[in-house]
Amino acid sequence: MDKRDYYEVLGVSKNASEQEIKSAFRKLAKKYHPDVSKEKDAAEKFKEAQEAYAVLSDASKRQQYDQFGHAAFSQGAGGTGGFDFSNFDFSDIFDDIFGGGFGFSSFGGGRKSNRARKGQDTLLHMNLTFDEAAFGCKKTINMDVSEECSTCDGKGGTGEEICSRCHGSGQISQEQSTLFGTFMTRTTCPSCEGEGRTYKHRCSTCHGTGKVTKNRDIDITVPAGVDSGNRLRLAGKGAAGFNGGPNGDVYIEFSVRNHPIFEREEDDIYLELPLTITEAVLGCKKEVPTLYGNVKLTIPAGSKTGDKHRLRSKGIEAVNTNRKGDMYVVIKVCIPKRLSRDQKKLFEQLSKTDLKDDSQFEKIERYL
Ligand SMILES: [Zn+2]
Ligand SMILES: [Zn+2]
Repeated sequence: MDKRDYYEVLGVSKNASEQEIKSAFRKLAKKYHPDVSKEKDAAEKFKEAQEAYAVLSDASKRQQYDQFGHAAFSQGAGGTGGFDFSNFDFSDIFDDIFGGGFGFSSFGGGRKSNRARKGQDTLLHMNLTFDEAAFGCKKTINMDVSEECSTCDGKGGTGEEICSRCHGSGQISQEQSTLFGTFMTRTTCPSCEGEGRTYKHRCSTCHGTGKVTKNRDIDITVPAGVDSGNRLRLAGKGAAGFNGGPNGDVYIEFSVRNHPIFEREEDDIYLELPLTITEAVLGCKKEVPTLYGNVKLTIPAGSKTGDKHRLRSKGIEAVNTNRKGDMYVVIKVCIPKRLSRDQKKLFEQLSKTDLKDDSQFEKIERYL
């Protein structure tokens, strides 16, 4: 049997919005949910809709599907297995439809709340000076960190016993009456929250959660070479996990302030160096600041605006390697706007000599 097109399954157009796809699936789920539907091929239809929704509700999978069709998700040549959606989390939709809080026996949704899950990640911003970013630095940030409760060793209480309500399984069967009729559901045990164990004495320090929030100063080492937008990860310093899952991570995103004279491009540094007309024309020696101390630069006679002098390895050390970028000194010839009487006289004298050192002068004259 040919596999139906996912868009056709949901009854939406190829350019349907996320919202249209969601609401189309919601309608089908209501109609064909096996715990609810009386239609004889409901289970098949329901599975088909789930598969279509799992693909089309995910932007990148949808793109793959649009490009390659079902072949995008078939294992091996000629496979028609379709997209494996067994790990897809439908709970937000079903909670929406059936009123959150209870799951269905036919798929894993009901176990959602006692599955160990990682806590949320946290994003922090940090401003750095140009030099702090270039050379790296140590910083201390003050933040709330979720830690295991030391009073109860993270258990949430003392005097462990098997939960009397679910007899240790963490789940209870319940008859549920809904809009769609009455059926049996298995839900997470409310007494032990799916743990299967309860405690005689609830821990008063953490109120049974097993986690406490502590305000801590965290020392961090900013590596040399970071740039605006770079992120540093502090593993396990984020929000507490759920049901024994690990803490989330903290990401610190840097924002590097401009330097008064240096400009950075990746690992290279640019310095605009102003020269007077005579310095440019006659050449000169100039002392130039770099990130690593001053250097003497010889400017040749006849320099012009835009000329670049490369100072090898005077740039910024790349993060995670020892390679240094370069520094470029870019010449800018400054034309004076105000001249003294004497200076003006000198220029007038100069103008009587031939300074036309460019073939373009001649070329243009030919057109006059
Ligand atoms: Zn229980
Ligand atoms: Zn505790």
